[in-house]
Amino acid sequence: MFIENPICSVLILKVASRCNLNCTYCYMYNFEDKSYMQQPKFMNYDTVKATIAKVKDHCLRNNLQKFYFVFHGGEPLLIDRKFYFDFVALANEQLGGLVKIFYSLQTNGVLLSNEWCSLFKKLNIRVGISLDGPQYIHDKHRIDHAGKGSYNDVIKGITTLKNNGLAAISSLLCVINIESNPEEIYEFFKSHGIKKVDFLYPDLNYDCLPEGLKNEDDATPYADWLIKVFDLWLRDERNATSPSIRRFLNAAMLILGQHTMADDMGLEENNVLVIETDGGIEAVDSLKICGDRFTKANMNINTNTIDQALDSPLALLYYKSHKDLCATCQQCDVKDVCGGGHIVHRYSKKNGFDNPSIYCQDLKKFYNHIKNSLSNILADV
Ligand code: SF4
Ligand code: SF4
Repeated sequence: MFIENPICSVLILKVASRCNLNCTYCYMYNFEDKSYMQQPKFMNYDTVKATIAKVKDHCLRNNLQKFYFVFHGGEPLLIDRKFYFDFVALANEQLGGLVKIFYSLQTNGVLLSNEWCSLFKKLNIRVGISLDGPQYIHDKHRIDHAGKGSYNDVIKGITTLKNNGLAAISSLLCVINIESNPEEIYEFFKSHGIKKVDFLYPDLNYDCLPEGLKNEDDATPYADWLIKVFDLWLRDERNATSPSIRRFLNAAMLILGQHTMADDMGLEENNVLVIETDGGIEAVDSLKICGDRFTKANMNINTNTIDQALDSPLALLYYKSHKDLCATCQQCDVKDVCGGGHIVHRYSKKNGFDNPSIYCQDLKKFYNHIKNSLSNILADV
């Protein structure tokens, strides 16, 4: 399919290539891709300058009004605080009059401190923290290099964030664990007083299936888990006591014909690229799960433009991943909402990306449940 003029409006910046944790499901460190070992530990200022210059060029060429920088890793709190002051000062100076800039940072939360919180406030950086649930769930996978669970440190970090008045602009990210009790997980997240939550499907594919999908073709453990949470959330939503849950809101918006920025549902293009610590420009990082050096495109922000990087095969595939669907997805009655799911979950060594999602049955059941729930609500109005 010919795509005219692909656009990037979100850059995920891998400012640190190493992490103080070693989560069992981490696609950076614990699957086939070992390319992080060749990466510099931190992004340097030359790469920052080149990144901002290339973003300026891209925004001007494409008349963009908004641009999003996401500080990521590894663990982005491992780099010096000065990095952020320098980055934001230069970006605001070079891009401020041109586009509205948004900054966010995704951390494991372990190193959060008052100093970091004051930096976030000063630089207007929104924070996302990874937390999988109560200690016995979180510590199953989110462990440090000695195998010790990180729960206590993460909770300390979240408390620091709240004490600094940052709860309202922060969010929690939870990878779904189908062995957990969905009611317990929902109440746990509600009790933390952080108003934005998202639930993620584990980033796996046909060559490495998730728990619950290994033995049965028509099992729907992820949908069953999410539907329980959705029904509780909907009850609370009617009483205005619920946190905002991104996955549910995005699905509802798509069903109602609205746009979202989600990269794992809907039919829109994905406007995201990744910059590695050495300046390498790549497609979305979770594709690393597909193989060693899978995301390497021989593109670098120091020598290439963003437009050139968007033209590389994997970046283009990701960009149009909700348009180029396999034959099964094209016939599907929830295609407009599901969009074939996340591209990472479609991969097999045998067929490449020409598959429905490994979560296909779950996605179908979950979106149909939301559709029916919304129809019932609208019928009551
Ligand atoms: S905190 Fe994130 S980057 Fe670090 S090991 Fe865990 S999943 Fe990977
Ligand atoms: S539910 Fe399955 S078949 Fe339908 S669009 Fe999603 S992945 Fe494709």
